[in-house]
Amino acid sequence: MTETKTDWREVESRVFMRTGARQPAVLVRGEGSRVWDDDGKSYLDFFGGPATTSLGHCPPVVIEALTDQAQTLIHVSNLFYSVPQLRLAELLVEHSCLDQVYFSNSGAEANEAAIKLARKWGREKKRGAFEVICTLDGFHGRTLTTITASGTDRYKEPFGPLPPGFIHVPFDDIAALKAATTDKTCAVLLEPVQGEGGVIVPDDGYLPAVRRWCDEQNILLILDEIQTGIGRCGALFAYELAGIEPDVMTLAKGIASGVPLAAVLAKDHCAVFAPGDHGSTYGGNPLATRAGYEVVRHIIAEKIPAKVADDGQHLRQRLHSMEDRFELVSGARGKGLLWAVTLSRQVAADAVAKCLERGLIVNNVRPDAVRICPALNIPREELDEGLDILERAFVEISEGTAK
Ligand SMILES: *Cc1c(COP(=O)(O)O)cnc(C)c1O
Repeated sequence: MTETKTDWREVESRVFMRTGARQPAVLVRGEGSRVWDDDGKSYLDFFGGPATTSLGHCPPVVIEALTDQAQTLIHVSNLFYSVPQLRLAELLVEHSCLDQVYFSNSGAEANEAAIKLARKWGREKKRGAFEVICTLDGFHGRTLTTITASGTDRYKEPFGPLPPGFIHVPFDDIAALKAATTDKTCAVLLEPVQGEGGVIVPDDGYLPAVRRWCDEQNILLILDEIQTGIGRCGALFAYELAGIEPDVMTLAKGIASGVPLAAVLAKDHCAVFAPGDHGSTYGGNPLATRAGYEVVRHIIAEKIPAKVADDGQHLRQRLHSMEDRFELVSGARGKGLLWAVTLSRQVAADAVAKCLERGLIVNNVRPDAVRICPALNIPREELDEGLDILERAFVEISEGTAK
């Protein structure tokens, strides 16, 4: 009996709305830091969704949480109290500088909620101030308002008119931020490390200076920690590394290791939502928040942020050693397990393809930068195994151009 294999590329070309490029692999199974395609080939995953499968693929804590919760209660609306939701809210409040939480299904929705909160705060507490200062190359999601807040023109051009009230300044430039501030400014929205922008790490003094300016001017500081939060940068939240506290913070990606969940958190002084101001059918439902609770609890209990900080030192050394040895590698930047290795030519897509062939998934976050964001609990041997593959890809590209 012959089994004909489904050509999923052909199915996609017929029925799926293409909004982006796809890597040429149909991934069907995952375990830990590895995934397998429909030919049975295995890959080490240094992309993780991106930065989303924080405990790797199908981690036992998530399997157990989802299985148990699926047999207990999958969904109730936010019209009712929900135990998993409130347990996760308590855990996040206990381990962060924020006081109150509301859950969403995606990062973009959490940022929408943060922006609504800032606008209502501006209306009530700052004589109608509504402008939000954002950063060039910042990324906050793909809804109409979050593409407007993002700093990439390509994401906005086909979709105007866009909502008013968003001002963009260069990242890591406190003078530009000060110059853009007016009496209409209600908030500054930025990422502690720009993720999609290419893993851009600001100068150590930048976030403290932004915090001081927001205090002086009575402006809310909203940190989008959707990519940097939940241990990714070597602390539970990246704001800890800068020694500051945001007024509002958004989380998603790693919060439930791949189960769709996001959150907006705020300090009491700006948590101005009142009943009727916001809502979501699925947001924070029992299934997703049970997974989120177990993931966050596990990351804290196992001291994973400290392990990630160690891995970050190791990654830094290995990537800088590649920089020393290959003309092709021009630098490396990042924190914890969120890194980009920069190339002296625009060949990141080529490097990604060569890695995929050799069984490593990475991503060309920029034409000249490869992002590395493996699972937070990846064992050191697998981290090194993946970096060896990356290095061989760089050798191959270097040799190809040397001839
Ligand atoms: C991924 C990301 C978002 C958007 O999250 P979605 O779940 O895709 O809506 C927003 N901000 C940052 C920093 C992100 O990395």
